[in-house]
Amino acid sequence: MPTTMPATMAAPGEAAMLDLWEAGSGASLTRRGLHLLAAALPDTHGLANLSIGARDAELLALHDRLFGPAIACRTDCAACGAPIELAFATDDIRADAALRDTVDVVVGDTRIRARLLDSRDLLAIEAESDPTTAERRLLERCIVTAEHAGTPVAPAEVPAAAMDAVGAALAAADPQAEILLDIACADCAATALAPFDIVGHVWARLDHWARAMLGAVDSLARSYGWSEAAILALGPVRRQAYLDRIAGAA
Ligand SMILES: [Zn+2]
Repeated sequence: MPTTMPATMAAPGEAAMLDLWEAGSGASLTRRGLHLLAAALPDTHGLANLSIGARDAELLALHDRLFGPAIACRTDCAACGAPIELAFATDDIRADAALRDTVDVVVGDTRIRARLLDSRDLLAIEAESDPTTAERRLLERCIVTAEHAGTPVAPAEVPAAAMDAVGAALAAADPQAEILLDIACADCAATALAPFDIVGHVWARLDHWARAMLGAVDSLARSYGWSEAAILALGPVRRQAYLDRIAGAA
């Protein structure tokens, strides 16, 4: 079940954000998601066991605390290739929390109970390059019990049609796990549904922020000889005031 969090929870400090950025640099998307989740819920254990929808709900809340609710991103039209700018708010992509941890699926004589996907599952298939195989392995991992005509079967023996139904049932049970944006191209009028990658977006914002911060540290260290720790301790207002003096003197 999703972990609830007080709305007043403070954002990580600037030094902690730089540490977070460094820890996740070079890491996979799933591991970056876990680093961000640890920053969002610093005193919580077992974060890799949170369902993907619960993880993404926490990452949206982290986005609000670090960067505010506005999201701007871009994609390319699948039909004509024209760039499409998207602007929306985190509230626009909040979905209901999962109400249960497992789903029951019946397809013909096959009965399956499966649990919601979590970060452990995504980590387990990271090295799989074929998307069809990755999807199948992902769903096999989530099967708690499977039986055909009353006889237990291994996850690997579950027919493809039943596995498709499991995938659909899991997606419906954890709606925050897959956010689809309505895309309309101004150039060719094509419409499409595009998945929105919450981990990738929060990481991109953090990466942009961290590089700008390192630029500020670089300028101030060159001008005043201060250490990184001293510059971070200044706080944003005083730091910007010194940066303005440097820019004015240039
Ligand atoms: Zn287009």
